[in-house]
Amino acid sequence: MKDGIIRALPGSVADKIAAGEVVERPLSIVKELVENSIDAGATSLTVEISAGGKEYIRVTDNGCGIPKDQLELAFMRYATSKLQTEEDLDSIETLGFRGEALASIAAVSRTELITKTAGSKTGARIRLAASEILSIEDAACDDGTTIIVRDLFYNVPARQKFLKPDNTESALVTDYVSKMALAYPGVRMRLISNGSVLFSTPGKNSLYQSILTVYSARIASGLIQVAREEGYMRLTGYVSDASHSERNRKRQVFFVNGRLIKSRILEQAVADAYSDKLFEGQYPAVFLFLELDPRTLDVNIHPHKTEVRFYQEIQISEFIVRSIRKALLDPKALEIKTETVRTETVVLPTATRPAEPQYVITAEPVKKYTELFSTIRKEEQERETQVQEEIFEYNVEKRLSFASLTFVGQAFDTYLILKDADGLYLMDQHAAHERVMYETLMGNFNSSENASQQLLAPFIKELGIAEVQASSYAVNLLDDLGFELREFGPSSYMVSAIPGFMDLAEAEAFLDEFFAAAADNRTNVQAKKDAITMRSCKSAVKAHDHLSLPEIKQLLSDLDRCENPFSCPHGRPTFVKFTEYELEKMFKRK
Ligand code: ADP
Ligand code: MG
Repeated sequence: MKDGIIRALPGSVADKIAAGEVVERPLSIVKELVENSIDAGATSLTVEISAGGKEYIRVTDNGCGIPKDQLELAFMRYATSKLQTEEDLDSIETLGFRGEALASIAAVSRTELITKTAGSKTGARIRLAASEILSIEDAACDDGTTIIVRDLFYNVPARQKFLKPDNTESALVTDYVSKMALAYPGVRMRLISNGSVLFSTPGKNSLYQSILTVYSARIASGLIQVAREEGYMRLTGYVSDASHSERNRKRQVFFVNGRLIKSRILEQAVADAYSDKLFEGQYPAVFLFLELDPRTLDVNIHPHKTEVRFYQEIQISEFIVRSIRKALLDPKALEIKTETVRTETVVLPTATRPAEPQYVITAEPVKKYTELFSTIRKEEQERETQVQEEIFEYNVEKRLSFASLTFVGQAFDTYLILKDADGLYLMDQHAAHERVMYETLMGNFNSSENASQQLLAPFIKELGIAEVQASSYAVNLLDDLGFELREFGPSSYMVSAIPGFMDLAEAEAFLDEFFAAAADNRTNVQAKKDAITMRSCKSAVKAHDHLSLPEIKQLLSDLDRCENPFSCPHGRPTFVKFTEYELEKMFKRK
């Protein structure tokens, strides 16, 4: 934290800092105080709140403390020990830097701070009420800092009205401190609310232990470790495997350079990584820590510091998708996971760490990075071809041809019974058809040629109100797929052509689902294309249909052309195989 001396920032620097009200509710205070403790190098800290933080908030740490002669300055607006010049704003490494938290907190409460540095014999205490300093005096205390914030908004009753009931406020605080406990597994963190200890982490550097302490064994048991580093980007943490999912994003926690962040970009990258594994409406649990060179992001866009701007969004999201997919695919990740339950720290194997790029500070950091990225890109592409080749070899050697299997029969209008010299196969015709549809649709979205078939008798598709609002976007995508739609009155479309690979019933079912899904996702439609497609193609799948032999042959050869014929887009298997040996075992012949 620079030289540790608190200085008032020159006006020019202060102006550069996005101004903003820091104190909104107890959570904002807890957040600022916890960040201060961490910036002060604390290895142990306790947060205690009463009445959701409205009555009091106490944060105690064993960090560096504040010298008595600097106490007054610490409560002055824009006084900070963490930043001196404008240039420092470009490479912020501490959590705080605006120098306005203590001042803002003291302005709306009765505040008391007791502190002692390791170097001084006695500690000091300062008391303030509504910004006014009541006293500064010597005090006996341990090394570190305790700050007590009482009677929040006692002097601004209008603001009290905006506070939620105690349990809502305390839930917000709990959620935040839980996440910080994960971000800093090396810091012992305790949370006490109305006198009872909600959790207490061991502070022994095991993220996995912290997840267990703070969340539940149910969540912890389904986690896979992610640990990957590419150039200036490093991603570590845990993600749930595809068989464990949540109903919302509450268990998605992102830290960027130690800072708890809300980011559409990161959420979307996670969704993309699981796009063919989870249904729409299912969310993985993720605890992810992204570390980037501080010069590749801007944290100064929002006064609450919960948002960042990445200068290289695309590279970062691709890196995240790649890292998670690798972890989900690689069985080694699971081995590491069981090990981490026992061991304490997670260290990336040095062999997989690419050499650190050399950073050169120039007046145009962004331009410098473009060069850096192009080298990284090249390395990435080389790695990717390698992976492609591996997949190719796998296909040539091991891949089975479904079309060459002998068709034996159909059971329950759902399962196809097939065989060859190697074994007996039961294929789920829905799952297989879903896979074929999905890959065809995705292929069509991404290619320019879209084989349409004109309908002799066009049909009318009526839309609901929400669907009408989403329709212009949806119609564009449908065009790409080979549909032809024309507006036909205020809330209907006339459909005159459908994609070549769909029959009329499939096309109608697909349209229904597509418009409904687009309406659901109005806010973020562009990004939801894959999800919409996936959900829609499901409805187009032949359900409980008796298939004719030509249809079965067609399905099998279509499946042969799929990139991944082994599972449906949601991860269910398309077929199961019984070898002769397995059958003999079932009949107790072996
Ligand atoms: P900022 O964190 O942005 O610098 P604050 O108003 O939060 O601004 O704090 C002002 C200064 O007070 C900090 O720069 C730091 O020097 C000192 N300080 C605040 N909290 C602590 C703490 N828990 N331990 C040590 N020093 C602290
Ligand atoms: Mg601060």
